[in-house]
Amino acid sequence: MAGIVFEQVTKQYENGFEAVKNFNLEIGEQEFLVLVGPSGCGKTTSLRMLAGLESISTGNIYINDKRVNDVASKDRDIAMVFQSYALYPHMTVFENMAFSLDLQGVSKAEQKERVQKTATQLGIEALLDRKPKQLSGGQRQRVAVGRAIIRDPAVFLMDEPLSNLDAKLRGQARTELSDLQTKLGTTFVYVTHDQVEAMTMGTRIAVMNQGILQQVDTPQTLYERP
Ligand code: ADP
Ligand code: ADP
Repeated sequence: MAGIVFEQVTKQYENGFEAVKNFNLEIGEQEFLVLVGPSGCGKTTSLRMLAGLESISTGNIYINDKRVNDVASKDRDIAMVFQSYALYPHMTVFENMAFSLDLQGVSKAEQKERVQKTATQLGIEALLDRKPKQLSGGQRQRVAVGRAIIRDPAVFLMDEPLSNLDAKLRGQARTELSDLQTKLGTTFVYVTHDQVEAMTMGTRIAVMNQGILQQVDTPQTLYERP
């Protein structure tokens, strides 16, 4: 099926610790899937295996019908936003956003066009000449999102991207990300330990605990039968 499939995936770290156990999950092409659970339950490990940043011990992962176990991260048609945003500090917002397009050999004219379009979509068009240290937390978060979606990936992965924002900004950013997903129609996989975030953003919620996927349901169903 198009979308993402985890098939009996496990992760055992070099020290023997089994962080993810027999993980099975299918994520539809246009879903906003939130992976939620307490700190240390294996969310980031699962996301990193999907991103190709961590090897799989056993099992398979498919992205749009292609088995990606041995596919390098850069060849997986995914983009990821990290908790720390990891913006390039010496580059301007424009350069941060254009960088991956430049690597792909996109012409300067098209780079400019796509940066403008994405920046407008995210309300950061006035910030293009600034460096990351001249931005607020909320602005950095938007730039990180912009840098990821500008490549038009099939899958967009986020690991606690709002946890560095204050409560007010976080609420606003949740709504913006949900709207963005609806508009783009891209698969979003979103990791958080925050149950409110999961309930308000996900079209489906996958609940993890101690390396085990315990339940996958819509927010409505989880609300009625938690
Ligand atoms: P979460 O994202 O849910 O907080 P993680 O996936 O980061 O959880 O971690 C799951 C478990 O695996 C934790 O107990 C963590 O300490 C452990 N872990 C993470 N990375 C490693 C590693 N490189 N070696 C050993 N254990 C690890
Ligand atoms: P997160 O913010 O995703 O929870 P962590 O602070 O758990 O990140 O982990 C940061 C880094 O340390 C990751 O690269 C993770 O793989 C590694 N790590 C986490 N727990 C352990 C552990 N028990 N042993 C070795 N490395 C670990």
